[in-house]
Amino acid sequence: MDTGALRKTATDTPLDRAAILTWLREDDPSRLAELWRVADETRRRHVGNEVHLRGLIEFSNYCVRACGYCGLRAANREIERYRMSLDEILDCARKAEEYGYGTVVLQSGEDYGIHTDWMADVVARIKGETGLAVTLSLGERPDADLEVWRSAGADRYLLRFETSDDELYRLIHPDLPGRRSDRFAILRTLSRLGYEPGSGIMVGIPGQTWASVADDIDAFRDLDLDMIGVGPYIAHPATPLGDLSWARRIAPDEQIPSDELTVYKVVALTRLVCPEANIPSTTALATINKIDGRELGLQRGANIVMPNLTPPEYRLRYEIYPDKACVNETAEMCRGCLQGRIEAIGREVGSGPGGRRRA
Ligand code: SAM
Ligand code: SF4
Repeated sequence: MDTGALRKTATDTPLDRAAILTWLREDDPSRLAELWRVADETRRRHVGNEVHLRGLIEFSNYCVRACGYCGLRAANREIERYRMSLDEILDCARKAEEYGYGTVVLQSGEDYGIHTDWMADVVARIKGETGLAVTLSLGERPDADLEVWRSAGADRYLLRFETSDDELYRLIHPDLPGRRSDRFAILRTLSRLGYEPGSGIMVGIPGQTWASVADDIDAFRDLDLDMIGVGPYIAHPATPLGDLSWARRIAPDEQIPSDELTVYKVVALTRLVCPEANIPSTTALATINKIDGRELGLQRGANIVMPNLTPPEYRLRYEIYPDKACVNETAEMCRGCLQGRIEAIGREVGSGPGGRRRA
C-alpha cells in the first residue's frame, strides 16, 4: 500500500483511480486508521467543524418505477401508499425553521400524481414563508418540471446515479416505457438550470464490483456536486434483488461488500477526491450500525446529517429497506438525538443553509 498517495491527497493532489481501488480493498487496521485521519483532517480544513442539518420530508411513497432494490417500487403491494398535503408539508417546514435547520429536503417516489404546478406551489410557499433552502428529490422528472420548480425557488436537487456500471444500472433500474434512464444527463440539466445538484451511490449492490465503485468515486470529482450521498445497499425482501438468485453473477472476490467498514472507506475516499463537497452520514449507515454509525461516518469524512421531519404515521410506510433507523422517533426526538451525537464527538451544529463551498 502506497501511503504516499494518501499523504499527497492531504495536500490536495487528487488520488487516481488505481489508488482509490487499492484503498477500497485495504484491510490493514493501522492503514485504515491513517485513511480515517486524513479524511477527517481534509473535512475539517475544507468544510470546517460544523455539521449541517438537512431536514428530510418523505412526502409521498407512490412510485411508478420498478427499481430492483427499493421497497417503494410500484409492484410492491405490501405497503400502504400516502401523499402528504400542502399543509402537512408546510407544518414540517415550519418545524425545520423552528429547530434551526437550514434546509428541507422534499423526497418522494417518482410519483406523477404530484403535479408540476402543485409542487411549484409547495416550493414557493416554503420559500415565501421561511428562510430555508429547498432541496428536491423526486426522481427522473421531465426537464420542464425541473425548470418550473427551479423558477419557483428550489435550490438543489438530489438524484443518485446509484452505480456508474451501466450494465448493472440497467439491470436494477429498468427504464420506463419509451424513456431511457440517463441520470448523468439529468445531473447536467440540473446544473444548467442553476440547481446545486446532489448525487451518490449505494455500496454493496449484488453484482457491484470493487472496480466499479472506484469508478464511481472517480466520477464524483467531475460532476461538481453540492452533496454526495453514499450508503450501504440494504436488502428488502419484497424486491427482486432481495432474492440473490436474481442478481448479476460476478466472481465472489469481485463483489464489494455492503458492510459498514466498506461504506466508511467510500465516505473517506469521497472526501479526499471532493474536499469541498457536502457528504452526509446517511440513515442507511445508521441503520446497519445503530449504535454509532452516524458518528463514525462524521469522523471519517462526512459533514451533514438529515434528521427526519416526516410525521410518524407516514415514516413507517416510507420503507425503502427494512428496519430503517429512527423510524419510530418524532421530529423533535430526531433533533435532540442528532444534536447530542454531534456535540458528543466535539463538533457543532451548523447554522444557515450550508450550501456548496468552493475553493
Ligand atoms: N425516487 C427518488 C429516486 O429514486 O431518486 C428519491 C427517493 S429514493 C427512495 C432515494 C434513494 O434511496 C435512492 O437514490 C437509493 O440510493 C436509496 N435506496 C433505495 N433502495 C435502497 C436499498 N434497498 N438500500 C439502500 N438504499 C436504497
Ligand atoms: Fe421509486 Fe426511487 Fe425507490 Fe426507484 S429508488 S423505486 S425511483 S422511490
